[in-house]
Amino acid sequence: MPRPKNKGECKVERVTRKYNIENINDDLIRLRAEESASLRDLEDYMNKKILEAAIESSSLNTTKHDIEHIFNILTEDEPELEELRNVERKLIQNDIDPDEIESSFLTYNTIRNHFHECLGKDTSVNNEPSFENNVRTLTSLYSRTEIVFNDSLKRLHEYDMLQMGEPDIYIEINVECGKCGNVHDAFELLEAGGCECSLSDSEDDVIDNIETTNSQNATQTNIGEM
Ligand SMILES: [Zn+2]
Ligand SMILES: [Zn+2]
Repeated sequence: MPRPKNKGECKVERVTRKYNIENINDDLIRLRAEESASLRDLEDYMNKKILEAAIESSSLNTTKHDIEHIFNILTEDEPELEELRNVERKLIQNDIDPDEIESSFLTYNTIRNHFHECLGKDTSVNNEPSFENNVRTLTSLYSRTEIVFNDSLKRLHEYDMLQMGEPDIYIEINVECGKCGNVHDAFELLEAGGCECSLSDSEDDVIDNIETTNSQNATQTNIGEM
């Protein structure tokens, strides 16, 4: 069926209209703003919706769990061929064209363009980096780095490939200020909200940032997850 080619209609709009997926822009904006969903998360979210809509309008009887399973197999980089064939056969038997679904799937690039070009204003707010989220990411990366170094070096040491006493790892991340040349520990710098040379007239911001950082550290327990 030839679809009307509306000028300016992007793939997100075209696909959601085709599958009667409603209120998707509200969903996207909410997920991004309230749950800090990444574009990859949104890609998964959208494509699951598409699959779900295609299945719901067919005679195929599935649970949420089945849909999840079918989705994983269709989107896996290297799916087990037999499993993929089974899933595709099941879809075709129920008049769902798996190729059509896959060609309807959205990439995170498409979603990003949709955010920027179609939703305009709303994304400029979401694009502002979150201090809290950045500190969380860095803290997590830092801990992981420390753990990986610890494990690797201790193992090399155990097998005599690193000849020394028991290794103990301290990782320092230093940041040099381009204005005064002072070198800071990255986390102290974040906690302070910047370098002394530039901070003098924004004391209130500093206190805000310290509070944010401290509450962040207190809740930072799951270091393995990034
Ligand atoms: Zn769009
Ligand atoms: Zn400085």
